[in-house]
Amino acid sequence: MQVALLTIGDELLIGQVLDTNSQWISSFLYENGIELATTLTVSDNKAAIGEALVHAARTNRVVLITGGLGPTMDDLTLEAIADHLEVPIVFNEETYARIEHIFKELIKRPLSPLHKRQAYQPEGAQTLENKQGTAPGVWIEKDEVIYIAMPGVPREMKYLMTYEVLPRLLPLASTKTRKEVTIHTAGWGETQIATAIQSVEESLPEHMTLAYLPSLGTVRLRLNAAGDDVSSLEKELVKWKGEIVELLPKEIVYGFGDTSLTEVVQQLLIEKKMTLVTAESCTGGMIAHSVTNQPGASRVFYGSIIAYDNSVKKKLLGVPEHVFEQYGAVSEQAVTAMVEGVLPLLGADVAIATSGIAGPSGGSPEKPVGTIWVAIGTRDQIITRKLSFRHDRQTNIARTSITAIDMLRRFLLMA
Ligand code: AMP
Ligand code: MG
Repeated sequence: MQVALLTIGDELLIGQVLDTNSQWISSFLYENGIELATTLTVSDNKAAIGEALVHAARTNRVVLITGGLGPTMDDLTLEAIADHLEVPIVFNEETYARIEHIFKELIKRPLSPLHKRQAYQPEGAQTLENKQGTAPGVWIEKDEVIYIAMPGVPREMKYLMTYEVLPRLLPLASTKTRKEVTIHTAGWGETQIATAIQSVEESLPEHMTLAYLPSLGTVRLRLNAAGDDVSSLEKELVKWKGEIVELLPKEIVYGFGDTSLTEVVQQLLIEKKMTLVTAESCTGGMIAHSVTNQPGASRVFYGSIIAYDNSVKKKLLGVPEHVFEQYGAVSEQAVTAMVEGVLPLLGADVAIATSGIAGPSGGSPEKPVGTIWVAIGTRDQIITRKLSFRHDRQTNIARTSITAIDMLRRFLLMA
């Protein structure tokens, strides 16, 4: 069963509202064994919606539509569907009675004449009850194609998809069982990984796929298998996952399934009975923020000094004046001294320190924008690394934070 999705709204095409409906619907359907064949975003224009409907109906059995069901004059989806199906648009008494009831009992405001618009539907349509809002969903079938229109408001769409649409779609779909595993890596780029695991990737059976999902400093590998028998799929996934991991350096694979770098680091700190602090200059507390975003952080994290100005590096962390004069604040010596200073100050076992030029200004030929020093250390041992990124300010900061947390993970593995 081929399914298309049309998301309708001018706001989506001018970048004012992010089309989160597409993402939610595709993952919701996928989890339920149905795959979207295509998605298309269309403006609030009757002719444009009409063209999109013609296009979608050509190859799809189901056309899901979100948006353009509101009470205002710019909401034209149902009129466009009616035109496309060559049926009149008719007033639905029952829907109108429901809207009237909602206004009288729940909203306690007089019904605007505009709301009457929401009671019009293409002739022959079934109403899908929307318990989250006034605009009902609409289900209409013609020439073997099912059209399902839902409001654009994400909360209302999710309600309709979950309780009204999916239960009706499942019996029509020949759903396959899908199983997947995710391998989380940090430190290698996707091409490096792809080169290392090429032999395994080439010998994957037809019913399995491998997807690379790169993000800042990390790559997730999603290995997917489709078939009929859950337990044999699971066995296969274990086997192929093992073959992939075998070909990668041990330290780059940090976890499987539903996990995160910060969760893994927290677990390692708990195992090693160590507490963490940070002394952050260019990352401005972002490392502390990531660490504390992970539930359970209080077990392992004490706090942070945001030593942005050199005066704070000096006064609170005790970075000696000569370090600034001789090497500068963005230097191996500065981040080393920051670790040495913050550990006794906050009384923790291990510290992360960062200092760098996030940009867009402040670079020099010797230290261009994106030059960032990171130090990780205990009282006995400090490791340092110079990062050279070429991103914008926000990305440099975010990537430094992730890289520093991954450095801590590797440091703890050796500790
Ligand atoms: P509508 O049903 O067109 O009146 O949509 C109502 C509101 O829902 C819009 O103003 C948007 O804020 C939101 N919305 C519509 N379509 C989407 C979408 N595809 N993703 C996220 N939000 C949306
Ligand atoms: Mg709209």
